[in-house]
Amino acid sequence: MRFDVVTLFPGYFVSPLGESLLGRAVESGILEVHLVDLRDFSEDPHRKVDDEPYGGGPGMVLTAPPVFAAVEALRGEPGAPPPHVAFLSPQGRRFDALLAKELAERPRVALVCGRYEGIDERTRTAGLFDAEISLGDFVLSGGEVAALAILEAVSRYLPGVVQAAGSVEADSFEDGLLDYPHFSRPRSFRSLEVPEVLFSGHHENIRRWRREQQLRATLERRPDLLEKAALDEEERALLERLAGGWRSP
Ligand code: SAH
Repeated sequence: MRFDVVTLFPGYFVSPLGESLLGRAVESGILEVHLVDLRDFSEDPHRKVDDEPYGGGPGMVLTAPPVFAAVEALRGEPGAPPPHVAFLSPQGRRFDALLAKELAERPRVALVCGRYEGIDERTRTAGLFDAEISLGDFVLSGGEVAALAILEAVSRYLPGVVQAAGSVEADSFEDGLLDYPHFSRPRSFRSLEVPEVLFSGHHENIRRWRREQQLRATLERRPDLLEKAALDEEERALLERLAGGWRSP
């Protein structure tokens, strides 16, 4: 899969794309990331891409011409699949596991990072972007951190990126539930014990126990997720017992 990231700070991505899972994904060619310096598309001799807001007010605005030029260059690249172009914005669709999976199905995604007070609205009104994605209900100083989070979350769905078999499938949100708790050595630590069942060697009991832990954790911490969780009859019954009256939708 190919990502293009349009940014004023290409250097921002160098270390994260060279380390750990993302680093290996890039090295093995599963993931290809092209960093595009927005200033390369400025027509200003000083490579300026921002200007004062019409109507006054604080801060600067990312101007339309370099953003149009950068996106049009990506779309016009011969021989490459057409990119799905997403602008990163607190006003976009909230990023989550479902959206990460949707993006992982695409051969090429371009992420455009804003800066300053925001971007000239005409990029939106002209339909320059296919999508707008938000990392959450807070304001970052630029789209770079959001782009990195999206890159990392999406790349986990690309075959071969996460080595441990079944690891991604067991993660939080995969079946609408939070993950089960994990334990490792030492068995006893500051009088804190590991649940007995994990030493039983009884795979079915361990599976059931983990599933129950998932239900408990989700019920306690993120009951909103339960509305859409894929549960069988037995799990629904268990959940109703745990919740003392929780009714499956
Ligand atoms: N004034 C704007 C925020 C500008 S922040 C507003 O209130 O809507 C500058 C840039 O950071 C944005 O253009 C966007 O690209 C990026 N950014 C900020 N918060 C973000 C978020 N939650 N998700 C994704 N990108 C974000």
